[in-house]
Amino acid sequence: MLRKNSPSLKRGLAHSFRNLRSSLVPTNELWRYDIGNLIYHSNIVISDKTPSTPKNIGSPSAEQIWNSLIEGNKRFVAGKPLARDIVSQRRSLEKTQNPPVSVLSCSDSRLPSEAIFDQGLGDLFVVRIAGNSADPMGLGSLEFAVEQLGTRVIVVLGHQRCGGVTAACSGKKVASPNLKKLIQPIMESCRIAEEKHGSEDLVDFAIKTHVHKTSNDLLARSEILKRTHDAGKLSIIGAYYSLDSGIVTRLR
Ligand SMILES: [Zn+2]
Repeated sequence: MLRKNSPSLKRGLAHSFRNLRSSLVPTNELWRYDIGNLIYHSNIVISDKTPSTPKNIGSPSAEQIWNSLIEGNKRFVAGKPLARDIVSQRRSLEKTQNPPVSVLSCSDSRLPSEAIFDQGLGDLFVVRIAGNSADPMGLGSLEFAVEQLGTRVIVVLGHQRCGGVTAACSGKKVASPNLKKLIQPIMESCRIAEEKHGSEDLVDFAIKTHVHKTSNDLLARSEILKRTHDAGKLSIIGAYYSLDSGIVTRLR
């Protein structure tokens, strides 16, 4: 059941999912789509009405899910994405979705999660905020994914030469109150990076620091995410995307 005592969930739902009530599905609904077609493959027959025998399949672990994402990233880097029947996938997902992974990433146009992890429809629940901070809307969206859609893994994805982090660490005045709100949560990561970056590039260190900060914020600011994480049903993985190579690297 949706817990209504979470302010961030309320705000996120009101903002992002007003029109999606009809698509809500129970969290225990059978996974119809794998991550990149790697975990549950076509030799496993899935009924439309009854779950497959749990002892035969079970849910993939967070490590298996992450490994599938990395395999997808390798295909992306190699320029060899999986061939997908998009029409068939779309039709199968008309009334349900069970994305096992949520990605909280920067809005940067060069790293759409479905592309860089070579995933299809229904595989990823993506929240994008410039600078990949955990604001109330983003938290509410992630709570929705975990509570209602059965997401098991949240990937917090920062990236090389992030404009949001660069702006925050520059110390320069920004052009509007909204932009100020956007970079404020990143400025703390910049301060930490200034103290600790050593010989490493300050902005790059701040980008990675901010991934860690956001990962911690998810648990500190969301009862739902914390509770699910502490029950062993949710993993949070920090990651870094290289614009130079296209490679995603795990940070934590
Ligand atoms: Zn960015």
